[in-house]
Amino acid sequence: MQRRSDVIVIGAGAAGMMCAIRAGQRGRSVVVLDHAKAPGDKIRISGGGRCNFTNIHASPKNFLSANPHFMKSALARFTPSDFVAMVDRHRIAWHEKTLGQLFCDDSAKDIIRMLLDEMQAAGARLELRTEIVAVEKTEDGFRVSTSEGEYLATSLVIATGGKSIPKMGATGFAYRIAEQFGLPMIETRPGLVPLTLDPQLLESVAPLSGIAAPAELRHGKTAFREALLFTHRGLSGPAILQISSYWREGDEITVDIEPDVDLLAHLKTAKQANGRQSAQTALGEVLPKRLAQYLTERAGVTGNMADMSDKVLARLVDAAQNWTIKPSGSEGYRTAEVTLGGIDTAALDSRSMQAKTVPGLHFIGECVDVTGWLGGYNFQWAWASGVAAGDSL
Ligand code: FAD
Repeated sequence: MQRRSDVIVIGAGAAGMMCAIRAGQRGRSVVVLDHAKAPGDKIRISGGGRCNFTNIHASPKNFLSANPHFMKSALARFTPSDFVAMVDRHRIAWHEKTLGQLFCDDSAKDIIRMLLDEMQAAGARLELRTEIVAVEKTEDGFRVSTSEGEYLATSLVIATGGKSIPKMGATGFAYRIAEQFGLPMIETRPGLVPLTLDPQLLESVAPLSGIAAPAELRHGKTAFREALLFTHRGLSGPAILQISSYWREGDEITVDIEPDVDLLAHLKTAKQANGRQSAQTALGEVLPKRLAQYLTERAGVTGNMADMSDKVLARLVDAAQNWTIKPSGSEGYRTAEVTLGGIDTAALDSRSMQAKTVPGLHFIGECVDVTGWLGGYNFQWAWASGVAAGDSL
């Protein structure tokens, strides 16, 4: 059986559903195909089940791309306030958690329900459990052969996301289509991902497993100030996920534990108040105790504080606030929240997400070489790029 529509969207994730809504609202007949048994699986698990659906501070500087200007047009035309207005219209309660990150009060499922309701109102059809077998260009559009038959349309939108979390059905499908149509790619790699340590370093920090501390992580000119978490595999927590998108194999990162506390002043005051206590005890007043122990041992600082020169105290502070670590790798796509790289933006029109050399073919969302920081930025890109394509179809 053959079915014809104006638009076929492949991928019922954040970007694909938003694109279908906008195209449907403009009177286009739209069908959304997805191999999964439910739409928006990543939305469902995002933000710990509460979906960090946008960030009120989202601006181009929060995104990585070979072309840092590409996302400007889409982000300007569909802003976080535009998405919040939709959420409010559906009476979904939300709150700002921290750093401009907006979360559902109740459940991420509310966002999926909202998108499905909007799709239905816009007349967009959703076909799940549909395996894509082949995509071909026809004289007047595209033919998509699937396990459920053939679909024909004038426009084809690829919204199948990246490679992250293959267990959830991530396939790299978009990259294969880009290759089929001769579009260039920026090499992909896992982003927003925990970093691993070599066995020797991992063994030395094993006592810290489970400890979280506020930290500033630096990599070149990039710095993030959020929580750092030591795990049984290496390093995680928001600060590490953020810096991981900038980190490359072989690079070092610098860790500054408790950057808002003047540790030297604290140690000097503690020494004056009670010279008989150890530096470890004094440091343990402002840092987790196991971390204080690890750092004093690492700095080779022992004995009563009364016997310590300011130089020794400074050495200890340096161990905590100028700590250089060389991760051995990352946990990879298995746990990465996003995929960096993807379809080279040089091949796409920034207003419509249309391939410059293949009229009617659009790429949106995570499969494009635009990746946001942790904190709601990636969904904002999915919504904004979906709207850009949807409004142009
Ligand atoms: P996706 O949401 O991945 O959707 C792609 C769709 O395409 C899926 O439905 C999939 O089934 C379908 N598909 C894939 N391959 C095929 C194929 N071959 N045939 C047919 N269908 C196919 N970002 C935030 O901004 N805030 C958060 O709180 C947040 N939390 C996250 C938590 C986790 C654990 C993860 C993994 C990611 C999180 N992200 C978050 C990132 C965010 O989920 C993605 O950036 C976003 O989902 C990308 O949207 P997309 O529509 O491009 O792709």
